[in-house]
Formats: sequence, structure tokens, C-alpha cells
Amino acid sequence: MNTTETRIVVVGSGVAGTIATIGLMRKVHKRNKIHITLVDKKEYFEYHGTWTLRTLVNSQFFGATHIDKFNAKGLKKNNHELTVLGGHKMVALDTAQQTITVEDAKSQAQQILPYHHLILATGASYTDMPAIKPSWEDRTLAARNQTFKTFSEQIKHAKHILIVGGGSVGVEMLGEISDTYPNKRITLVHSKDRLLERATADANKYVQNWVEAQNKLRGEKEKITIILNDSVLKSKTSETVKGQAIEDVGLVLYTTGPRPNTEGFDTMGIALDVQVDKYLRVNGHSNIYALGDINNTKEEKSAASARMQAKWLSATLKLIIANDKLKSPKTLELKPYENQKFAQLISLGTKKGIVINSEKILMAGKFPTTMKSYMEKNVLVGLITKPDGFMNKALY
Ligand SMILES: Cc1cc2nc3c(=O)[nH]c(=O)nc-3n(C[C@H](O)[C@H](O)[C@H](O)COP(=O)(O)OP(=O)(O)OC[C@H]3O[C@@H](n4cnc5c(N)ncnc54)[C@H](O)[C@@H]3O)c2cc1C
Repeated sequence: MNTTETRIVVVGSGVAGTIATIGLMRKVHKRNKIHITLVDKKEYFEYHGTWTLRTLVNSQFFGATHIDKFNAKGLKKNNHELTVLGGHKMVALDTAQQTITVEDAKSQAQQILPYHHLILATGASYTDMPAIKPSWEDRTLAARNQTFKTFSEQIKHAKHILIVGGGSVGVEMLGEISDTYPNKRITLVHSKDRLLERATADANKYVQNWVEAQNKLRGEKEKITIILNDSVLKSKTSETVKGQAIEDVGLVLYTTGPRPNTEGFDTMGIALDVQVDKYLRVNGHSNIYALGDINNTKEEKSAASARMQAKWLSATLKLIIANDKLKSPKTLELKPYENQKFAQLISLGTKKGIVINSEKILMAGKFPTTMKSYMEKNVLVGLITKPDGFMNKALY
């Protein structure tokens, strides 16, 4: 391995992987040259949030939170190198040689990438509603656009939609469908005794009041029904487990249980449920880190915490890399990563929303949803499109 530069491989260019990459390119001093290879299953960037659901309901919004190419302009000032490999997956890990093997998912051509530090940030998928996240077939922007088109056509043609799961994704999905289709019957089934159960109980009340207000504007056959403390089996969606009938369901949307994208990790010596220590290092590995949705930190799995972890790691690696370059490296006293808590912004379509934490509703009305739409589309996507932008400097 060329020892004049530090090689870093990042697998997954979502929120965590991309922010870690940009943070490193900006923070590591130019005399400590780094070469980052950013590997992803797709050839573009997609931010997951309310706009994802909005686009699943109406594919005309496609592009709102998509970027066709990683914009490395402005990151070159420190003279570091960045290679972006889209459409690739990690297929082998050799910790003794410090290399990973990546494979082009289409041509199956393989290449070996040496690393001094390996960052895993492959996020999570919704197994029962895969369209929420890009699949291997969604390698190009055009293919991803087609997935949204197909999905939104299914929503358009279903007279009665059943949403399974009343967490933030299920509730936001309800809001988006209701907004676009005020005449479509929607049933949401949630296994807990209230919606958004990890937040304040007032959040459930707010959503239930909103449903009541919507129902006053809807015809008898177009109501929204919320069923709590119950569930639906995939083998029988015409009634709940407790026997409540759900008639004429045209489409079932499962918003439950995101699962970490760690398929195949076990064959490479990394547990499928990736456990990290207080320095976000994968247990048993001193130079392999896991960020965001795939790791086991005790935080709400969110873009907000993925960003904080990536920001922390890039600052920490900057110190480690600088120390390694010293003639006599010191024993570093690193500050561990501290779990974070963030307020959550939940949209109920484009007209109502709430900002909540576990204790109370901090804000309600049109402003939260407008703010969320704006933030996702401009600020968060702006982190990637204009990494050298004035506003973004503080965010890394
Ligand atoms: C509908 C929806 C709404 C959300 N709303 C909010 C919100 O309002 N606020 C909030 O803070 N969070 C929200 N989240 C959660 C947030 O999007 C995630 O927590 C965040 O994206 C996690 O970042 P990550 O980098 O770990 O994963 P991701 O951003 O998902 O990135 C993972 C990357 O890894 C790539 N990848 C996956 N598998 C492989 C592989 N085998 N090889 C190579 N690459 C791979 C993927 O293509 C992707 O680019 C929402 C999520 C969804 C789905």
C-alpha cells in the first residue's frame, strides 16, 4: 500500500457516508494527504425523507431530493483524492491485508481497494416496501424514476389503501396520500396503543384530531380509519389479527421494521447486527467504523443522528491521521461519541405538521411541514450539492 497517503474506503454514500467523506476532505490537513473511495450500490445520491413518500405518491416530484453526481468541486483545496464507485458492492474483506474487494453489480468485474480506515454506512431498507429505498435495479436515476412512477400508479389506482405501521413513516405516508387523494379510503393499522408511540402522547392526539377533521371533509366511503393495538398478517390482509374486517383493500403499504443493509457482512467477519464501541468502531476491529442506520447506538435512527456520527468520525479521524503521520505517534486521548437526542419533525401532507420530542409538541401547524419540505430539498440536499457553500461549512 502507498504509505504516503492515507486510504479510506467508505461503503454507502447516503447521509452518513457522504457527510463523513465531505467532512474528511475538508478537515484533514493537506500535508496529511488522504484518498477516499466512496462505494455505493447506485450512481446518484438520494435523500430519504418526506419527499421520498411524496414522490412515491406523486412521481412528478422525482428529483426533488436526488442528485445525479457527487459534487466534489470546492473539496479539492486540500488536494485530497476522491474516487466514487457507483453500482458496486463490497464482496470480501481481508483485515490482515487491509483490503476490501468490491464488485460491479452489472458486469461482476471486481477490484481490490486497500484501506487504512474502512467506514461502513449502508443504511437500512424496508423489506416489505422496498421502493422506499433504491434497490440494485435502481442503479441509475432513470431506473429509480421508473420505480417511483410504477409505485405512484399503484397508489393512484387503488380505491382503498391499507398502511401497516403508525410510526413516523406510516403517519407521514398517511398524510401524503390523504393530501393528494382526499377521496381515497385509507386504513392504518398499528400494533401499539398509540401512533408515534416513542414521542409524547400529545402527538398521537394531534394526528387523531387531524384524521377527524379530514373525515369531516370526506364522503362515507372515503374515510380514514385508524386501528390501534392490532396488526395485519401478510397472508390475510382482509382482516386484522383481532378479526376486524378491512374490505376491498387495493394496496397494502408496509412501513414497519427497517432492517440494516448488512447482507453478506457475516461472511466477511462482521456481525449482521453491527455492534460498535464508544468510538463507533465495529467490535473487534480497530480501524473499521459503522455509522448511521446500521449500527447499534442507542439513538433514534435518523438522518440527524447519522449526520452527527459522521461529523464526529471525520473530526476524530483527522486527529488519528495527523498523529499517525508523526515521526513518533502519541497515544491519543480521544473523546468518545455521545448519543444525541433530536426533536422530530412529522409532516401530515403539505398543510399540517408537528415538531415533537418525547415530552411535548414543540410546534404545530403549517410551518413545521413547510420548514421540513424546505430543509430536505434545499438545506440537506445542499450539503451534498454545494459542500463548499458558506452555510454548509458549520454543518460538517
Ligand atoms: C421515508 C423516510 C422518511 C424519513 N424522515 C426522516 C426525517 O424526517 N428526519 C430524519 O432525521 N430522518 C428521517 N429518515 C431517516 C433517515 O433517512 C435515515 O436515518 C438516514 O438516511 C440514515 O443515514 P445512513 O447514511 O445510515 O443510510 P442511508 O442514507 O440510507 O444511506 C445508505 C447508503 O448505502 C447504500 N447501500 C446500501 N446497501 C449497500 C451495499 N450493499 N453496498 C453499497 N452501498 C449500499 C445505499 O444506496 C445508500 O446510498 C427517514 C427515512 C425514510 C425512509
